Amino acid sequence: MNNELAAALVRAMPLGRTLKNEPLSGLTSFRVGGPAALIAEPASADETAAVIRVLNEFSSPYLILGNGTNVLAPDEGVAVPIIRIGKSMSAITRFENCVTAQAGAQLSAVARFAMENGLSGLEFASGIPGNVGGGVIMNAGAYGGELAGVVEAVSFVGPDGKEYAASKAEMEFGYRKSALADTGAVITGVCLSLTPDDKDEIAARMAELNRRRREKQPLEYPSAGSAFKRPSGGYAAALIDEAGLKGLAVGGAQVSEKHAGFVINRGGATAADVTALLARVQKAVYEKSGIALEPEIKIWQRGE
Ligand SMILES: Cc1cc2nc3c(=O)[nH]c(=O)nc-3n(C[C@H](O)[C@H](O)[C@H](O)COP(=O)(O)OP(=O)(O)OC[C@H]3O[C@@H](n4cnc5c(N)ncnc54)[C@H](O)[C@@H]3O)c2cc1C
Repeated sequence: MNNELAAALVRAMPLGRTLKNEPLSGLTSFRVGGPAALIAEPASADETAAVIRVLNEFSSPYLILGNGTNVLAPDEGVAVPIIRIGKSMSAITRFENCVTAQAGAQLSAVARFAMENGLSGLEFASGIPGNVGGGVIMNAGAYGGELAGVVEAVSFVGPDGKEYAASKAEMEFGYRKSALADTGAVITGVCLSLTPDDKDEIAARMAELNRRRREKQPLEYPSAGSAFKRPSGGYAAALIDEAGLKGLAVGGAQVSEKHAGFVINRGGATAADVTALLARVQKAVYEKSGIALEPEIKIWQRGE
């Protein structure tokens, strides 16, 4: 890693921090991945913009990480700098029926904040383990709800290092995607429009959805949630189950016995194990049903 770049990133973030050679296994819910050469954790939208401008000056590509609950990091680590939006950008505030959250706030914390303020609309998100930024960029959803249903506006830093705002319409939300996905834009905050409701009823709905989640999903093992996107014409978990793949393992990676849509790390899984298992599942499902499954998990490369 270029020491001059690292020093310039430190200067660009008086309140943020940089991490060197931090194992990605500790920053992703799969608990897989080698060291990240350099991580920049800005503490504000302005610092995020400054970080991107520095990276551009050095013509450096970069990756973006939130809570790491939808990422498979490579065993050999990541060479390009990572911008991580987490705890240092996690403030949540309310104005009338809108909740404004910085992108590093956890979805569960924002859902709880909304509930405590008697605001409904985020019950579906209370059990999704990602951060707001990661949730918005890929329009996370569950139990019939999705972030697109409550987002009013999004603030982000573009790949040019300038700060912008986008309306819900400009975000062009679709199934697990938005206009900003894979553009190099970093989401820094979001404004959510919610509906007043009884606090206890909101809490009861959240508790019920989380009970269903615990019952159906292998939350006792590290994973990145649903391994594959929902294909048109079926559900990934049902197709995997019908192909007889529950319990199939490669090394430490296994198709969950509890929920065929999840690939779990049953202990000591490598990224190579996970990718080999995903490929075997895709092949077997295609042979059985003719449907090509597409990974929902973001599979990172080392980069140079
Ligand atoms: C047990 C479990 C259950 C899950 N259940 C669900 C579910 O019900 N519904 C669902 O939709 N998902 C679910 N997921 C997947 C995951 O939690 C969501 O996709 C979540 O939105 C990812 O957020 P994150 O902060 O962890 O993003 P990360 O995993 O860190 O990143 C995911 C992608 O978003 C990008 N990204 C992250 N933050 C930003 C940012 N601030 N600006 C720009 N790009 C960014 C990254 O570059 C990456 O491409 C589950 C995962 C687990 C482990």
